[in-house]
Amino acid sequence: MVEILIFLGAPGSGKGTQATNLADRYGYKHLSTGDMLRSNVKQNTELGIKAKKYMQNGDLVPDDLIIQMVTDFLTSLEENTVILDGFPRTEIQAKSLDLKIRSLKFNLSRVLYLDVGDKDVIDRLSSRGRDDDSYKLVVNRLKVYEKETAPLLDYYNSKKKLIRIEGGNTPEEVFSSILTNLSLEKKEVSR
Ligand code: AMP
Repeated sequence: MVEILIFLGAPGSGKGTQATNLADRYGYKHLSTGDMLRSNVKQNTELGIKAKKYMQNGDLVPDDLIIQMVTDFLTSLEENTVILDGFPRTEIQAKSLDLKIRSLKFNLSRVLYLDVGDKDVIDRLSSRGRDDDSYKLVVNRLKVYEKETAPLLDYYNSKKKLIRIEGGNTPEEVFSSILTNLSLEKKEVSR
């Protein structure tokens, strides 16, 4: 059975770091749509060329392009736990993921929401120095998050899948809270 674990949170909430740690520690697969897109941009693929202008502006890449990319990835999976980091980001993406999970007989296990205040997010993103992280773009990315992605919290909460994690603590504290919420401590200790 493929188990799907979703990380939700504003840009700069630390979900990439936490997802990478969790995947490394437990041998999970990790799909960061942002990383996959950046690699496509670097290699000048057709997808990369189409996605670039949206990414540079801090806007979302159109749903159809993203859904195709994620569907290709999901269809190729073997039995494992898979962390989705940066997807879904719109209600259309979430609904399409639901359908895909049903048709492939996967299980949506949990949606972890890393909750971080706006000020922390702006501080973190502005100090990162990535192309799309200049202050103006940071503000736009947060606006896009609030409008398009934040409604997914209700969406998954009503499905009883959402777990809220306090994301303002140190990375170690956040990680430990994730493990507790996923009941994973035992496995870590026994290693
Ligand atoms: P991230 O590294 O997750 O912050 O993603 C960087 C950029 O890639 C975003 O600002 C979007 O332009 C694009 N992106 C990543 N994931 C998605 C997605 N699920 N839907 C639309 N655009 C995305």
